[in-house]
Amino acid sequence: MRLVLLGPPGAGKGTQSARLQDKYKIPQLSTGDMLRAAVKAGTPIGLKAKAIMDAGGLVPDETVVGIIAERIDEPDAKGGFILDGFPRTVKQAEALAAILHAKHMDLDAVIELVVDDGALLARIEKRAQESIARGEAVRADDNPEAFKKRLESHHAQTAPVSAFYASKGALKAVDGMAPINDVSVAIERALHEGARVASATR
Ligand code: ADP
Repeated sequence: MRLVLLGPPGAGKGTQSARLQDKYKIPQLSTGDMLRAAVKAGTPIGLKAKAIMDAGGLVPDETVVGIIAERIDEPDAKGGFILDGFPRTVKQAEALAAILHAKHMDLDAVIELVVDDGALLARIEKRAQESIARGEAVRADDNPEAFKKRLESHHAQTAPVSAFYASKGALKAVDGMAPINDVSVAIERALHEGARVASATR
């Protein structure tokens, strides 16, 4: 199963992706996690991405498209994957369609977690508190200023990605304001509604 999860920062994509990963035994491919790993390792990509990420901006399309193109070629992604945080721009969505098309692959579903903007900052603040409680470092971009920028990037650049998939009849919206388990159930339902989006995503 090849799946894209869309939604604003704090929508719960990471939480739901982790559950889907366990259930379907396919890897969760989070560009945010991969970029944070690159920053931590001090790779050339990480060095370039750090300031952009810390400020809540978007890393250039070519960079993340390159990362994803390589990652979906890894053996563990052969049986499918969950994309979390990618595509985040229409350019990225088009690049993904081209990459999959060249491999004769399709997406099985594109699911958008729909959450009120007003609830998001509180979720991010809670995530920061939970990190502190676990003795872990707080994400450099989990602060009100960077969050505001992330939300702006989302509305300006990522909301059109939903429209891109919706125009192809490929988008399924799920209420991300519901409790975590209910969201998981709604995602399952959306997945089983069937209808491979197949060529619609090309
Ligand atoms: P969020 O909680 O905001 O969804 P992520 O962990 O997905 O956070 O991403 C963190 C940061 O990494 C983003 O704010 C952005 O700077 C960068 N990033 C992640 N994925 C992409 C992408 N597909 N395109 C551009 N930048 C990205």
